[in-house]
Amino acid sequence: YKCLRLLLGDQLNNKHSWFQDVDHSTVYVIAELPQEMDYASHHIQKIQAFFLAMQHMADSLTASGHHVLHLTLDETTEYTDLPELLTALITRFQCQRFEYQQPDELRLHQQLDDFCQQLSIATVCVDGEHFIVPFNDLPQYFTRDKNGRLETFYRKLRKKHQILMEDEEKPEGGKWNFDKANRDKLKPNDITELPQPLLFDNDISDINQRLARHKVKSIGVGRDSLLWPVTRKQSLQLLDFFCTHCLPNFGRFQDAMTCQADDLVDQKQWSLYHSRLSFALNSKIISPLEVIECAITHYRSSDVINIAQIEGFVRQILGWREFVRGIYWTHMPEYAQRNHLNASQSLPGWFWNGETKMNCLHHAISQSLEYGYAHHIQRLMVTGNFCMIAGIDPDEVDAWYLGIYVDAIEWVEMPNTRGMSQYADGGIVGSKAYAASGNYINKMSDYCLHCHYQVKEKTSENACPLNSLYWHFMTQHREQFERNPRVGMVYRNWDNQPDENQQAVLDKAKQLLIDIEQL
Ligand code: FAD
Ligand code: SF4
Repeated sequence: YKCLRLLLGDQLNNKHSWFQDVDHSTVYVIAELPQEMDYASHHIQKIQAFFLAMQHMADSLTASGHHVLHLTLDETTEYTDLPELLTALITRFQCQRFEYQQPDELRLHQQLDDFCQQLSIATVCVDGEHFIVPFNDLPQYFTRDKNGRLETFYRKLRKKHQILMEDEEKPEGGKWNFDKANRDKLKPNDITELPQPLLFDNDISDINQRLARHKVKSIGVGRDSLLWPVTRKQSLQLLDFFCTHCLPNFGRFQDAMTCQADDLVDQKQWSLYHSRLSFALNSKIISPLEVIECAITHYRSSDVINIAQIEGFVRQILGWREFVRGIYWTHMPEYAQRNHLNASQSLPGWFWNGETKMNCLHHAISQSLEYGYAHHIQRLMVTGNFCMIAGIDPDEVDAWYLGIYVDAIEWVEMPNTRGMSQYADGGIVGSKAYAASGNYINKMSDYCLHCHYQVKEKTSENACPLNSLYWHFMTQHREQFERNPRVGMVYRNWDNQPDENQQAVLDKAKQLLIDIEQL
């Protein structure tokens, strides 16, 4: 072969221009790599999903006439890392050119950059053709010295791509943001109406045997079959299911949480009205623009999807997903070291098994272990909030999030975790720390009804731990947050409390932090 083209496990975009023509002098390499098993403690379903999706990508390219070398762990285990494997393949095939797509993770970007520096043959790095903003255009939107906000970025992209616009400048529906219409709690009646999620039944017996043979370490619950979409066909099916059954209520219940839905006979409604498209998107099987276009087509022909629902969905993909990627590439590698609030507690052991008496955390963590999935508010306001107000070291928080979710890849995981959820970046991603007491969880979920702790209590023996931890956190960082107009007023409530009440709350929090493993 004259040319070797590498496809990483999260570069499964078979619409890439590489594949327009079949060139028999090019070989495509898709390889399961030991180095990718070790950099985090991955959820078993995440490994299964990537391996199976890679296998299907190889099969689909082969069926289109391309020459593909799909290597499993059995064939790659003898190589210490990706460069060593590539060197062996380039020598074996006597290639004169090495081509790859821009990796989305700095670790792989640097590894391949270094590899190319020492190669004596020609090398080419091309855009992955997945994101709405091409890699080389990122500096047009992001600069290191000025923190742009999601809202400005999102509006620019709405205008540039004329998405949900009435005329060139005016947003459809007269407003850019319908967040206020998107804060409903699920009432018991709403819970019985939740759609049963579309789950797949993918055979992973070969992969499971391979993982056992190579003693691959993982976390979470493994299954005999994989419920995540791993082909374009399945991903488009899930997209269609979402647009038909979930989009009509997506925005409305976007922030809602429930532990009731799991109890209904044979129904597993852990994803509520969320799309569960993040794995299909992050592995690049489907593209963000096609997801947005499909959702808008449904909206246009439906009388049950209103503007607040479709705008809420478009904002997540056109807005947040592209935005956090820009933040990642603009601020790495320093971003990975940021610890603005000097948080240093260890992550409690129960994050790895869900065994805590706090029902909100027990539920969000157990569900994550069970499915490799939790929806955004569970990640942000349950697990993320706890870690922030308990002052957990952001390195440990990042490591947990990077492993546990099927969609977890550093470019999207880290700005969400370290930035949005922990405020460890000092306000680059969000303008405020998303800190909350039990009151918020109680407002948005039914978790507190079934909890060992009392959500209305602050200092009693069974008081909800989040209440005192919240005030401990807020007073500890008062100087930082007081000046923020979105947060400042909470301190007035605090100041109105008698000194002894304040002291009792802070003492309670200190004791909880000592007893954190027993919560
Ligand atoms: P939906 O609610 O249906 O949203 C649709 C799509 O919008 C998602 O598939 C996703 O592609 C995109 N999206 C929504 N919110 C965000 C966001 N904040 N950032 C980027 N994209 C977004 N998302 C990941 O893809 N990988 C991660 O590793 C990841 N880690 C997170 C860690 C924390 C602490 C938090 C707070 C959020 C994290 N997110 C991550 C963002 C978000 O929670 C997930 O994208 C979402 O829950 C995936 O489920 P879904 O496909 O059902 O999403
Ligand atoms: Fe969570 Fe507190 Fe509610 Fe229990 S009472 S579920 S710990 S918020």
